[in-house]
Amino acid sequence: MTANLLNYDRQGLIDFLSEMGEKSFRARQILKWIHQSGESDFDQMTDLSKNLRTKLSGLAAVSLPRVMRDHTAADGTRKWLLSVDDAGNGIESVYIPEPNRGTLCISSQVGCALACAFCATGKQGFNRNLSVAEIIGQLWLANKALAKSDADQQLSAVESEATVTPVLPSPRKVTNVVMMGMGEPLANFEHVVTALDIMLDDHGYGLSRRRITVSTSGLVPAIDRLRERCPVALAVSLHAPNDALRDRLVPINQKYPIKALLEACQRYLQAAPRDFITFEYVMLDGVNDGASHAHELVELVKDVPCKFNLIPFNAFPNSGFNRSSPDAVRAFRDILMKAGLVTTVRKTRGDDIAAACGQLAGQVHDKTRRTLKVSMEIM
Ligand code: SAH
Ligand code: SF4
Repeated sequence: MTANLLNYDRQGLIDFLSEMGEKSFRARQILKWIHQSGESDFDQMTDLSKNLRTKLSGLAAVSLPRVMRDHTAADGTRKWLLSVDDAGNGIESVYIPEPNRGTLCISSQVGCALACAFCATGKQGFNRNLSVAEIIGQLWLANKALAKSDADQQLSAVESEATVTPVLPSPRKVTNVVMMGMGEPLANFEHVVTALDIMLDDHGYGLSRRRITVSTSGLVPAIDRLRERCPVALAVSLHAPNDALRDRLVPINQKYPIKALLEACQRYLQAAPRDFITFEYVMLDGVNDGASHAHELVELVKDVPCKFNLIPFNAFPNSGFNRSSPDAVRAFRDILMKAGLVTTVRKTRGDDIAAACGQLAGQVHDKTRRTLKVSMEIM
């Protein structure tokens, strides 16, 4: 069977090559070709011997998800729909350009079994975990597409004989990664962590641990494993200030309630690359956005060094929720800020292409006929 080299981090490549009788430094070379140069053709890997290139062509490949759609929104946000198999499953990744950085939001599963009440992915059910190749392939494809757009733009500037160099609105490559696309990254732990290894490797993407954020709905044992194995920046989807409400919005709370979650956050901070946890809080009109909720939240997190990111709810058909009013969001933010909590309100990006948080829907063939019981059993 042909091995897909995108599935391997450096150690994986070393093992694969040693079975072929090759030296370990070849792993570094190949990692660089694939991930730094964006090369998928062994024949172009010119510092490998002809003999090794021929052997690799027989045994291995660099196989990427197929790009089905590539949309750019008015604000520059770009969304790709990627097909990941012949069974009709698709995932989405989103690139968000900002003046000083370019962030890629990556998916980790086809669908999600955790069924948070307000999430489009959760509503679709769960099909399967993504492979390492399908996770890291999103970054590979985004960098490739962004480099191409950049080259095209420069070419058209030359062709139009422009006398002024066009000012690019943003960096044209991925500088930051957030695991906030479809799926719960910590429920696909091994594949996600291997993909993180490649992102962090100097011969891979060379991103620092501070520039990679894993977002979780709160799988407590997996938060501890991440702390030991690969402590990148952590965002936790809190969304409610007490167990009664969180049980309803984020059902996994019934298994790992808030107290256990906050204790895991405290432990995580001992290894984290930043000295705070980011709490995400989706603002749902009349559900979790009142002044009393804000005060309760302040009291709840008083012992956890943290920042808050308030996310205005992004609507999707039949969600059953509404977005909080701008006044309610402001009032909520002010209460947190007055209590000394750094709080930002997430700008909604890519609205016109449904690329905002929780709107990623892809194409999921639900295999689980998911019930809460099922989702809890697989954790
Ligand atoms: N499964 C992970 C990461 C993916 S979701 C998690 O739950 O953290 C990324 C963020 O978007 C989470 O904070 C999630 O709660 C939030 N989100 C989900 N649906 C949303 C919606 N419709 N509007 C706004 N944010 C949403
Ligand atoms: Fe899954 Fe995250 Fe959506 Fe919850 S919010 S259903 S954990 S993707």
